[in-house]
Amino acid sequence: MLENLLKYQEIDEELRKTEVELAQSEVRKKAASASAFLKAVNDNVTKLDNRAEMLVKQYDAMNKTVGELTEQLKDYDDIVCEDSDELAYIKKKAGELADRIFALSSDLESVTAEINSILKEYSSLAVKTKEAKAQYVEYLPKYNELKKQKDEETAEIKKKLAEVGKTVPKELLEKYLQKRKDKIFPVLNEARVVSKHAYCRCGTGLPDADYNYLKGGEIVECESCHRMLYLK
Ligand SMILES: [Zn+2]
Repeated sequence: MLENLLKYQEIDEELRKTEVELAQSEVRKKAASASAFLKAVNDNVTKLDNRAEMLVKQYDAMNKTVGELTEQLKDYDDIVCEDSDELAYIKKKAGELADRIFALSSDLESVTAEINSILKEYSSLAVKTKEAKAQYVEYLPKYNELKKQKDEETAEIKKKLAEVGKTVPKELLEKYLQKRKDKIFPVLNEARVVSKHAYCRCGTGLPDADYNYLKGGEIVECESCHRMLYLK
């Protein structure tokens, strides 16, 4: 049982090597990064749309207020008044209005600047989207070609795996394949024994019961890293 699974793993390592080569290939990375960008771009555009909509509303509202306040300020110009107290009061009110208009105008400038920066972001996103589309179109066929090539290379390995797989108990093989899927490799590892205690390669000490199972030729699992362990 153990020997067969070890043999299976040995062949599986060749398969894994090609898988890693494919996963780390430049063509896959280029295709994948372009695809990820294109998937995210709609969300990013929606976020910009919402922000732009809000800013435009804000701009319009502020602009309207500035218009109204400017009209009010004009009214003060027409007031003829000889009472000095009343004149001081009117001047004070007009000054306050002018201050508010000034403050709002500077806020309007900030909103305008922000709207302009959003417009720039739109243009930059459009350029990047075009680039990502070109990259995707260029690299997807290259990736598919490489994948096809690797599939041909691994067909023989997979055949051998299927044959050796038949000699491994089904439940054990399923467990192995699940761990392989979980990116644990090597799945099956030799346990180390130091002064009558067994350890996983991750350094975790195994319970005595597991050590006894190991001595009996069985396979146990590390509780910490979930590798499968055996003893020679
Ligand atoms: Zn471990």
